[in-house]
Amino acid sequence: MQSRRTRKTQNLEILASKVDLNGREVLINGYNARMKHPQRSRPDQPTVTFLGATQSVSGSMHLLEVGPYRFLLDCGLHRGPRDEARALNARFPFDPASIDAIFLSHAHMDHCGNIPNLVRQGFSGTIYCTHATRDLIEVMLQDSARIQERESEFRGYSRTSSSPLYRMDHVYEAIEYCHGVDYDETVVVNPSVNIRFIDSGHILGSAIVYISIRQADRNYSITFSGDLGRQGVPYLSQPSSLPAADLIICESTYGGKTHESLIGMAEKMSALVTKTVARGGKVLIPAFSLGRTQLVLHYLRVWMASGVLPRLPIYVDSPLAQEIDLVHKKYHADLEPEVTEIPCEWLMSEDDAWYRSTHRDPCILVASGGMCEGGRITQHLKYHIDDPRSTIVLVSYQSPNSLGAQLLTPVPKVFFHGQTWNKWIEVAEVNGFSGHADKNDIDTLLRDAVDSTQQVRLVHGEIPQMTALTAQLQQMGFASVKAPHRNESVVLGAEALKSR
Ligand SMILES: [Zn+2]
Repeated sequence: MQSRRTRKTQNLEILASKVDLNGREVLINGYNARMKHPQRSRPDQPTVTFLGATQSVSGSMHLLEVGPYRFLLDCGLHRGPRDEARALNARFPFDPASIDAIFLSHAHMDHCGNIPNLVRQGFSGTIYCTHATRDLIEVMLQDSARIQERESEFRGYSRTSSSPLYRMDHVYEAIEYCHGVDYDETVVVNPSVNIRFIDSGHILGSAIVYISIRQADRNYSITFSGDLGRQGVPYLSQPSSLPAADLIICESTYGGKTHESLIGMAEKMSALVTKTVARGGKVLIPAFSLGRTQLVLHYLRVWMASGVLPRLPIYVDSPLAQEIDLVHKKYHADLEPEVTEIPCEWLMSEDDAWYRSTHRDPCILVASGGMCEGGRITQHLKYHIDDPRSTIVLVSYQSPNSLGAQLLTPVPKVFFHGQTWNKWIEVAEVNGFSGHADKNDIDTLLRDAVDSTQQVRLVHGEIPQMTALTAQLQQMGFASVKAPHRNESVVLGAEALKSR
């Protein structure tokens, strides 16, 4: 099948000259400089409209308009109650064909998961991301398409609300549009816009996106944090400081919290595992397949090798994490040499998983589904939710409506998989495994930008976290800090003009 992009490439070879923002004729090399919308009204200054992850943590997506050009910062999936999420994901509040390019921060689904739907609805621009992000989204989006097609079959194609958001073909086409770049490489997107990806230390390939803009003889800059990592996480780089800019768009997932220390985490896990083994139970750890699973496995093996934890079999039930593991090995061939003596076994089939879950010997089972909303963990929970000998350790952020949040609530029963269950399993939370910066990390990462930044807009956080971080940043000296609502816009340079 010939993709839209391939067809357009052929057309562009014929139509190889356009006019830039200053009216000069420019030769176009590829897609990037083309003006798709010469008739659209042109705002005098660059404008960002916040379309997702506003006062919430999912569906990261922001629209940047520079004259006639339109760019998306991320294009993620919304999570939440099914019908509500479906409505937010299905339709875009702009014409997808009008988007010139996507600047993608990283490969988590709440940042990239709706790209194939954008493709399905007409997008055929360039997706700029790091090389590792490109490899990871290939795995992640294929998995997402498979899940959607399966769920759709289960619910019945006849209802429009049950049709998948996208299919595998749209994923293949999206991957074809990806343009992988190196960290710290300046990429000329078009005559008005340059971008640079800076390591954010959150997951493999994750990046802060720094955007330089030239419009109407003025220079502007935007720093989009994507998701920021923690200091000192193994086999990831330290998150970089955020460059000062006219506008910093900053995540705030843990903007008001401090993570547990590594020593605290080790002590807590040691106590939980030791008493679970003494009871003859199993330790279940639900973990997102990308990022969290790799980190949890690393620490479990380090702690077993050093005697902090008893040596137990570790089983991993996550086919997706296994594929991601291969991408990790491609970029970090020397990964974890110190812990290879502690094996972990990938469970290859549902029969394997059933056998290991129901076998009576104690073990640690790491399974996909960080909030217990789906993934392999739900199957293991069915076997162990009413077993007081076992323990479930939650290591991820739990959104308010998730099954994980229900488990943490002190109630005797929980509802999932169509029925009510006795909650007799021990439930514990260890939040230090987070891949996100906490309030202290954010303080460190933004400190250098205080003096030369005009505006900060907080995204990707619940309201209490944003409120706490707003106060913290104002105290640090940032003049304009706000948490925008969905569809709210900010005009670059407007604050500076006001204060003149
Ligand atoms: Zn992320």
